[in-house]
Amino acid sequence: MKAAIYPGSFDPVTYGHLDIIRRAADIFDELYVSVLNNSAKSSLFSVDERVNMLKEVTSDIPNVRIETFSGLTLQYALDKGINVLIRGLRAVTDFEYELQIAQTNRKFSDDKVDTMFLTTSLQYAYLSSSVVKEIASYGGDITCSVPEKIAARVYEKYGIDTGAIIK
Ligand code: ADP
Repeated sequence: MKAAIYPGSFDPVTYGHLDIIRRAADIFDELYVSVLNNSAKSSLFSVDERVNMLKEVTSDIPNVRIETFSGLTLQYALDKGINVLIRGLRAVTDFEYELQIAQTNRKFSDDKVDTMFLTTSLQYAYLSSSVVKEIASYGGDITCSVPEKIAARVYEKYGIDTGAIIK
């Protein structure tokens, strides 16, 4: 059985993440979508909230498991005995950063752990969790970027009345 890990912050999960999740779940028998518990990075949603949101929006994909981890992604992968990491690539800026991490992970795992990149579907190329939060915080419309249930939670965090969204 071939498994892979898709690690990230998912603060919150967007349609860009979901697109990568669906495509990776089609390729692998089992896909772990793993939320990094990083206390050094401030986040809008707690790890539990992010896990619950991911569970909700992936409930129709049977081979997806949602987990959390802290520390190095590489160590988490080695501990699970999984040797493929999935990352999404939006633009050249993602590539430069991701290439370095992928090479580091390969080197420090004695060439065991590989990273597989899926390029973003064009309609989501502009999307990031940070942009979603920024737009929502000013009462802008994020319903084309995240599932409806997620949008409602983001607006709630910012105290935005969903009846007053700027479309
Ligand atoms: P973000 O950069 O949105 O804060 P995360 O840390 O949650 O993202 O990202 C997890 C992974 O998802 C990364 O590999 C990132 O490049 C990828 N990703 C994020 N948004 C998109 C998107 N719109 N299309 C494709 N991949 C994406």
